[in-house]
Amino acid sequence: MQAYMSQCIELAKRGSAFVAPNPMVGCIVVYNEKVVSEGHHEFFGGPHAEVVAINSLTKDIDPRQSELYVNLEPCAHHGKTPPCADLIIEKGFKKVVIGSLDPNPEVAGKGADKLRAAGIEVVINILQKECEHLNRKFYFFHTNKLPYICLKWAETKDGFIGRHIADLYSGKQISGEESKEFVHQLRAEHMALMIGARTANLDNPKLTVRHVKGRDPLKLIVSRNNTVESSLRLLKEGQTWIFNTLSAEEVNGLRFVKLNRHTFLEEMLEYLHKQGVQSVLVEGGSQLAQSLIDHGYWNECYRICSPLEWKKGVPAPEIKARETEIIELGSDKVLHYLNR
Ligand SMILES: [Zn+2]
Repeated sequence: MQAYMSQCIELAKRGSAFVAPNPMVGCIVVYNEKVVSEGHHEFFGGPHAEVVAINSLTKDIDPRQSELYVNLEPCAHHGKTPPCADLIIEKGFKKVVIGSLDPNPEVAGKGADKLRAAGIEVVINILQKECEHLNRKFYFFHTNKLPYICLKWAETKDGFIGRHIADLYSGKQISGEESKEFVHQLRAEHMALMIGARTANLDNPKLTVRHVKGRDPLKLIVSRNNTVESSLRLLKEGQTWIFNTLSAEEVNGLRFVKLNRHTFLEEMLEYLHKQGVQSVLVEGGSQLAQSLIDHGYWNECYRICSPLEWKKGVPAPEIKARETEIIELGSDKVLHYLNR
């Protein structure tokens, strides 16, 4: 059962840059110990993985003799699409194996119960940890009512942060095609990108997804004193929200969100949750990342360490956690941290 579930997880990952705020889901159908069809949730609002797998079954396969594997509990409620549990019952599958239950307490277990009530054998929590890890942003958001915060910065060997990733990877210094792709993949996998006002004004980044396929995330700027320059490139397209303490208004896709100076970070996170922003990739600067770290408001961190030495600059944030993984990207090392 584990091998089949691993296969579901791998399939689910194909949707990583396209499905948020929906979870990543993969599904396979097994008949006579052979995988006879598969499906994954491809894009937000698209058909669920179970529907894709069931619809691609050939006529010679009898669902009543088949087992269905899926990494997340099939839905039992009417959302954008009819409930998958109903379709599975209608086809009369013999057995359904579920990786992890829905994180939403009002829904958790309902899909599994519905299947059981219809006489289907249901097995739950197969590779549960792996399945929950796969959809950690989705789980964290629904369980904690807060956005999932991922930090990312690049630093030199002597501990200085590039004002922006582009600085460190531009020009002759580092070839970095792999690092660029890595960062843009990260961008595509988050619903929003966040930077501080200083970084925005100094670097004038576009904050779009360019080197990989994926959607452009919402852009967020933290500017307590509302000092964001109106000529910035990132304000030209898409949606941008500016968190500040002075003004609340919305003009042409640019939204000013006014927060209290003393409870700024808390209010900002609450606001993001209320607006349904499930995950945020924080791309600097150092001060913003450090304040999130100091308050414990981070879930994950990618620290890109280059072999360069700058001898001066802005000190990189300090993180007192132990890396869970080291990823080699050309001459760079990416230290990955999870806040547990
Ligand atoms: Zn569904």
